[in-house]
Amino acid sequence: MLFKKARFKGGANVPHYKNTAEVETVKMDVPAKVVIPMLQHIGAPCTPVVSKGEKVKVGQVIGTSDKFVSAPIHSSVSGVVKNIAPMLYPGGTQVMSVEIETDGEQEISEEIKPPVISNREEFISAIRQSGLVGLGGAGFPTHVKLSFPPDKNVDTLIINGAECEPYITSDYREIMENSWHIMCGIEILMEYMNFKKVFIGIEDNKPEAIKILSDMADNHDNIEVVKLKTRYPQGAEKMLIYALTGKKVPPGKLPLDVGVVVMNVNSVSFISEYVKTGMPLIKRRVTVDGPAVARPSNVEVLIGTQLSDVFQFCGGFRSEPAKVLMGGPMMGISQYSLETSVVKHTNALLAFDPGTAKLPPESPCIRCGRCVDACPMNLVPLAINQYTVKGRFDELERYNVNDCIECGCCSYVCPAKRHLVQSIRLAKVQLRQAASSKGGK
Ligand code: SF4
Ligand code: SF4
Repeated sequence: MLFKKARFKGGANVPHYKNTAEVETVKMDVPAKVVIPMLQHIGAPCTPVVSKGEKVKVGQVIGTSDKFVSAPIHSSVSGVVKNIAPMLYPGGTQVMSVEIETDGEQEISEEIKPPVISNREEFISAIRQSGLVGLGGAGFPTHVKLSFPPDKNVDTLIINGAECEPYITSDYREIMENSWHIMCGIEILMEYMNFKKVFIGIEDNKPEAIKILSDMADNHDNIEVVKLKTRYPQGAEKMLIYALTGKKVPPGKLPLDVGVVVMNVNSVSFISEYVKTGMPLIKRRVTVDGPAVARPSNVEVLIGTQLSDVFQFCGGFRSEPAKVLMGGPMMGISQYSLETSVVKHTNALLAFDPGTAKLPPESPCIRCGRCVDACPMNLVPLAINQYTVKGRFDELERYNVNDCIECGCCSYVCPAKRHLVQSIRLAKVQLRQAASSKGGK
């Protein structure tokens, strides 16, 4: 086992708050209803293939798309389709969704059987059928990530077990509870995708996880567990690749361009289970925590379960939450309502009371440069913020706004409490809109 210091510039020493690290995962009961959005990944949304009133079973396909960058969506329950309509999505928009009233039977669809795989193409096709998307929070369809040309010389697989965001312990619990599946998933990926070398990167604040996987990797010449110095955002793809291989992914390029694929521990573990059982992605582990939560837990939740039901399962709230996040405190998305769904890439639900949720007021920039020093992507957050505030979106292109990984380090270190990452997100949207209106002319 190797030990490597964080090699990236910038970042922040954020508090860990891993309160649920030693809390074993509990399985949540089947809720009375699920609302399953037809968009749970980066890419094209799915179209529902069931109708109102139809009886559905666990694992049955309920949404598909013929677009390459997309992933099918399956029913997580057995029951009856009550409604198909645009409904509130965790990002605050309305997305076409299938509402299913559950019958509590959890009858499994006849479609479910282990996939027959004998080569790389069949493996990638099976991964698409499984509905797998990046479970670390990104939601990128896994079959797309694996569809690189066989002659592209992509020979290294990196397993991301860093889990650097405060509070979240979903990956850690996977290692503690399902390490065997993680190793089997890695072996399957090595066999069909021909990876020659595998690194498993874990931060040094998780010594038990490092020990478990190191002991298992001892029997494999090509799998190496690497202990990484704990520093946020060590788990970001580009930072992880640099720490583990010394390779730098150039701006605008992908890990594939330096011969690497990065996958989350939960995604790899899912592959092992799917290949054995054929059960597609219908559930996931969610860390439920934050000062307002009565009983912080790691919960196995069926996709489509309402946030209100998940919090209720964790004992409800100690005090009325002033802010609820899907994801961690650095990169999570604030939720407008609890009547929205857990989706495939929901790794955490955090609730904060008024005392911890209140943001200090913004004050003018004092040009201290701390945001520039903290940015691991070498951006100039103060300049992007100033142009965004002034509505000068035309000036932003030269600041490489799209390289921002939205890690939040700049906002975290800013003594003036400028809303830097929020303005960068806004700038990205504006640049996308400007590009599409240019393309439309
Ligand atoms: S850290 Fe805040 S105050 Fe300092 S330069 Fe950046 S935006 Fe200005
Ligand atoms: S500009 Fe983006 S990448 Fe840089 S610190 Fe801020 S949020 Fe992170």
